Amino acid sequence: MKVPLLDLKEQYETIRAEVEPAVLELMASQMFVLGKPVAQLEETLAAHSNCAFGIGVSSGTDALLCALMAMDIGYGDEVIIPTFTFFASAGVVARTGATPIFVDIDPETFNLDLEKTKAAITSKTKAIMPVHLYGQMVDMKPLMAIAKEHNIKVVEDACQSIGSEQNGERPGEIGDCACLSFYPSKNLSAFGDGGMILTQSEEFAQKCKYMRMHGEDQRYYHSMIGGNFRLDAFQAMILNIKFKYLDGWAQKRRDHAAIFNRLLCDEVKTPVIKPGNTSVYNQYVIRAPRRDELQAYLAEHEVGSGIYYPVPLHLQECFKHLGGKVGDCPVAEQACKEVLALPVYPELADEKVIYAAGCINDFYKK
Ligand SMILES: *Cc1c(COP(=O)(O)O)cnc(C)c1O
Repeated sequence: MKVPLLDLKEQYETIRAEVEPAVLELMASQMFVLGKPVAQLEETLAAHSNCAFGIGVSSGTDALLCALMAMDIGYGDEVIIPTFTFFASAGVVARTGATPIFVDIDPETFNLDLEKTKAAITSKTKAIMPVHLYGQMVDMKPLMAIAKEHNIKVVEDACQSIGSEQNGERPGEIGDCACLSFYPSKNLSAFGDGGMILTQSEEFAQKCKYMRMHGEDQRYYHSMIGGNFRLDAFQAMILNIKFKYLDGWAQKRRDHAAIFNRLLCDEVKTPVIKPGNTSVYNQYVIRAPRRDELQAYLAEHEVGSGIYYPVPLHLQECFKHLGGKVGDCPVAEQACKEVLALPVYPELADEKVIYAAGCINDFYKK
């Protein structure tokens, strides 16, 4: 039995009949950038996250970059981020000219450690970027209390967490903004790249809209320097079609996670979802002893898996000049050696999840 980590062709078959005529219609319109489909998507996704405004942009990375630029973050500023996340979170901070300050994670949720975050705040700290990793939100209430006390902005990296909840609240609802990604591996995925900024602030939303058009606040007049961060109409059209299935797909991911939770042997540590949180399981990640051997064994048995992430950001070559060294963030460094993502995509048949769990249990029985 073949169990890939992700197979987008299966999803495409379920929506092909809706997508194909819509593509032809868009081609006939020859309207490719922003426009009606983007405006519709912005409205829909803002409402879905209980947010007032959505700004469609070219990728999750650009959503983060555009948000930081709209907060006037730059040289001399510090932005606190978790060291255990996708590279984009750190890359965008450095590209504004600011310094990323890497903080260790909570061993259970793999999310930002709030005590260590507090300790990392200096007079230069302008923003904190909590990353809602794998589909579960960072504890937002205590984080916002810390940020408010020090007058620091909060940019939520919700690229893996569209639709996730914490006591009924969603990304972007209480932070200054949240950023989404529509990269093909994300829960709501485009046919290419795309992203969105969500916010409650009309003023900030307006500034992000200027920023995505080179800081143009009036045609050919620029009061600030932005970039080309626009979302294509084509991607928005695809996302508008997929949106109606998003919550159902998240439920299927949770169902698959529940099967793994029930079947996996005690050698592996299954994900910890804290009380009050609902995960959307963009990734279902276990901690596994002898992880690399297990991954090779699964590959032999045609079960896909992934390592998110093998290297913490404070040890990346490109950040060497910041002086990070082994031992700075021991929890993240350990996680890099143990984490393994298993297949939970919505179209996966239950028998395949059961087979994958069986393979893992067989590995530890040997
Ligand atoms: C995917 C992802 C991004 C970047 O999104 P892109 O759309 O690929 O640019 C940023 N942060 C996290 C945590 C992600 O998972």
